[in-house]
Amino acid sequence: MLFHKKRETDTTEDKAGSRNDADSKAGVNSKDDDIIREVEEQTSAEADSSEVIGDAASDAGSGSAATQGKGNELIRLNNIKKAYYIGTENELEVLHGVTLNVNEGEFTCIVGESGSGKSTLMNTIGLLDRPTSGEYFIRGIDVAKISDDDLSHIRNRQIGFVFQTYNLIARTSSLDNVAMPMLYAGVPLKERRARAAELLELVGMKERMNHDPSELSGGQKQRVAIARALANDPAIILADEPTGALDSQTSQTVMDIFHKLHEERGCTILMITHSNKLAEECDRILTLVDGRITGERAGTEAHEYAAAKTATDDGKTATESILEKD
Ligand code: ADP
Ligand code: MG
Repeated sequence: MLFHKKRETDTTEDKAGSRNDADSKAGVNSKDDDIIREVEEQTSAEADSSEVIGDAASDAGSGSAATQGKGNELIRLNNIKKAYYIGTENELEVLHGVTLNVNEGEFTCIVGESGSGKSTLMNTIGLLDRPTSGEYFIRGIDVAKISDDDLSHIRNRQIGFVFQTYNLIARTSSLDNVAMPMLYAGVPLKERRARAAELLELVGMKERMNHDPSELSGGQKQRVAIARALANDPAIILADEPTGALDSQTSQTVMDIFHKLHEERGCTILMITHSNKLAEECDRILTLVDGRITGERAGTEAHEYAAAKTATDDGKTATESILEKD
């Protein structure tokens, strides 16, 4: 399947999913509870007419990455600043007032030099870290001021993280790694295992579902990590240099999975990359220089990917590999 970049833009780590939200939810105050409900009601309304794998996600009250609502503003940051404590409070300002938006269904990437604040920005967007000042809205709802417990709850359901170093749980099967965020979301065992298997199939890793991370190549680990990011059908996938540890061919394979999720499932993706080549394949490219967004443009590369083929590292489709399996 061929697709072409047509959109013109108008203007302008280990923690992912690992907090026990089911437990922390007990201590939520009623005002914050209302905010959570509001975010989730909006996202599940959009999930209704979307293609969702199984029922696990909607049962968990989670959002949808699907096509309905495409073009609506999903996240907005207004003048976000982030300073770190390095001896005295707020001594090192890393983000100097970032304003950006991401619309539903967009595949956006952020490029910038090492140390320019990309991961800090990503962790802020992913609710792993709080901004020092500024406003942050998810679907119009201010998430900058809510409690830590509620942040972890929203993060578990609305944000799917993919990291450079995969961050899979050691000595734990691919299936259980992918099922883990659903455990925290309170999805029953049978459902989460069924959905995890379907997600692994989506990324071409079903035949490796009983393998531990130590038995997988880098590209395979990253595919499991992408499946895990999709577990609770998040509103947005955040990927911080997901191909940074992979060779160029494997990077493209991983990138093609993001393309597939974007094109076929309407996923909203925000990715940090060092690869100019991969950046050009995105809808939008944002440039971060020393804690400021200094540029925005459309990607220029029409990218071809074979939708029917979820290639494995050896170039075979998942079905081919399953047929060949001993
Ligand atoms: P990038 O991902 O673009 O390489 P980072 O966001 O990781 O950049 O880091 C930006 C700057 O913030 C760097 O100078 C880094 O040393 C600093 N920094 C990041 N995290 C912390 C922290 N927890 N405490 C103090 N300084 C930090
Ligand atoms: Mg970084």
